[in-house]
Amino acid sequence: MKAAEEEFDYIVTGAGSAGCAVAARLSESGRYRVLLLEAGGKDRNPWIHVPMGFSRLFADPNVNWMYESEPEAALNGRTMYQPRGKVLGGTSSINGMVYMRGNAADYDEWRQRGCTGWDYDSVLPFFKKAENQQRGASEFHGVGGPLTVSDQPRRYELADRVVAAAIEAGLPPNDDFNGARQEGAGYFQSTTGKSRRWSTATAYLRPARNRASLVVRPNAQATRVVIENGTATGVTYISGGISRSARARGEVIVSGGVFNSPQILQLSGIGPADLLQRMGIEVIRDVPAVGNHLQDHFYVRLAYRCTRPVTMNELANSLPRKILATARYMLFKSGPLAANGVTAGAFARSDPRLERPDLQFNFSPFSYASRGPSGAVAHDFPGFSLSAVHLRPDARGTVLLKSPDPLVPPAIRFNFLQTQYDIQALIVGMRMVRAFTKQPSLASYVAEEIVPGSSVSSDAEFEESIRRNALSNLHPVGTCRMGLEGSDSVVDPRLRVHGVGRLRVVDAAIMPTVPAGNTNAPTIMIAEKAAAMILEDARVMA
Ligand SMILES: Cc1cc2nc3c(=O)[nH]c(=O)nc-3n(C[C@H](O)[C@H](O)[C@H](O)COP(=O)(O)OP(=O)(O)OC[C@H]3O[C@@H](n4cnc5c(N)ncnc54)[C@H](O)[C@@H]3O)c2cc1C
Repeated sequence: MKAAEEEFDYIVTGAGSAGCAVAARLSESGRYRVLLLEAGGKDRNPWIHVPMGFSRLFADPNVNWMYESEPEAALNGRTMYQPRGKVLGGTSSINGMVYMRGNAADYDEWRQRGCTGWDYDSVLPFFKKAENQQRGASEFHGVGGPLTVSDQPRRYELADRVVAAAIEAGLPPNDDFNGARQEGAGYFQSTTGKSRRWSTATAYLRPARNRASLVVRPNAQATRVVIENGTATGVTYISGGISRSARARGEVIVSGGVFNSPQILQLSGIGPADLLQRMGIEVIRDVPAVGNHLQDHFYVRLAYRCTRPVTMNELANSLPRKILATARYMLFKSGPLAANGVTAGAFARSDPRLERPDLQFNFSPFSYASRGPSGAVAHDFPGFSLSAVHLRPDARGTVLLKSPDPLVPPAIRFNFLQTQYDIQALIVGMRMVRAFTKQPSLASYVAEEIVPGSSVSSDAEFEESIRRNALSNLHPVGTCRMGLEGSDSVVDPRLRVHGVGRLRVVDAAIMPTVPAGNTNAPTIMIAEKAAAMILEDARVMA
């Protein structure tokens, strides 16, 4: 059955970190009608809005695509679980809420790769435009934007100790990782406001809910971009089991995220020609970079038994404490549920000869024995974790169709640990974590190292434990990367798909390289900049 076709100025496929922001900005003036399609439902699950509730969403099929990567040869055949938000707000509705932009030099590097307009000085105004910074406006921060960015609701004994220990180990203190300098140790800020998650659905869609120019359609999965004579003219989508289509007078903007954006381009005939032919899809344009250059941060977790009951394990293992914590949160918006899990950490270089940090350390007041379908099962004693994240891995992977059926997930391959640097950086990271735990401020809190355990001490043993335990840090990017035409890229610096009219990709997939930090804020910056460029181009065309 086919329903009647509607017409809009812009159609955005995917209401995630980027899609919500771009659709809200395009519809803001009321001059353009915008359709925002989202495969997932409304963000009604109450745990979405409670900062500590994110662990409840990690493997909930009602809000999560729950992808699984293909087996990784260098990781003893392990697959990498890939949660991705399938709900209004996308992954910004299920993520860990750390607000981090990466290093200024990451964006200068994008510019050096030919992406004019993407150096740090050019993108900083868009970070600031998005932002409502609790600390007030400054050279680096904005106020009055849709995205509330807050300090941790309070300081925590163990987080204080970890930060002090990292400083004792030689890192400088840093009270703003998004300010003048990235290197150092300190507390992280988060995308929360009044102790609630600030997803892009909250930030951008909620204020626009009565806007006639913005039609938000949840439970509507785009299946193909319609391309006529080399120009995108609309989309087909499935909603309520019915196949529908909508026409775009202006542009189609693909914002399905790092896995689904290349998938929908490939389904629409834009991608590696040999793959499309194998799938029986008509080749509209041979763009080998679609689904290529997948890059992600890679991390290894060290877990410690703590000598004192100052961790979240005590909460996780006690029903009365859970009831109390829930009551405190509901009544006063305070207590352990008011904080996002990753409160503090550090940035450092794995080699002093490097110009910028390539390691991030994340402290979590929680340690676990195993991670099952219902989440992580905490150790039955006080414990905490310190993760070393490699921010600049050489590894590159792919996202390629497995089937021409749009409802079949694509094949995701990371190819982690392909170079000696990728292994060495993590070994150094693990040794640095060990050094932190031996400093005066932290040593008395450490009863023993549980993972990987103090018997691991040689480089070969560290490497073995990395191959056994290290994981994707869930910051994948690059599958529709930006670059100049002819440079093995998908979109140009205005995010227009090479060789196809009126079609852009706007999300984390366009990043030419992964920034050295968490990827939600950079994705929202991309959406803000994209919206400004789209509106600018519309003015020129008018
Ligand atoms: C568990 C987890 C924790 C994380 N923690 C942090 C953190 O603390 N800080 C941080 O900065 N980053 C974090 N990240 C990463 C960050 O959230 C993502 O990089 C960012 O949200 C990506 O935004 P996006 O717009 O590219 O994709 P998404 O936000 O995933 O948006 C894509 C949207 O498109 C929808 N969609 C897909 N296909 C279709 C289709 N065919 N039709 C219609 N809709 C479709 C999806 O359902 C989704 O809503 C985390 C990620 C995960 C998974």
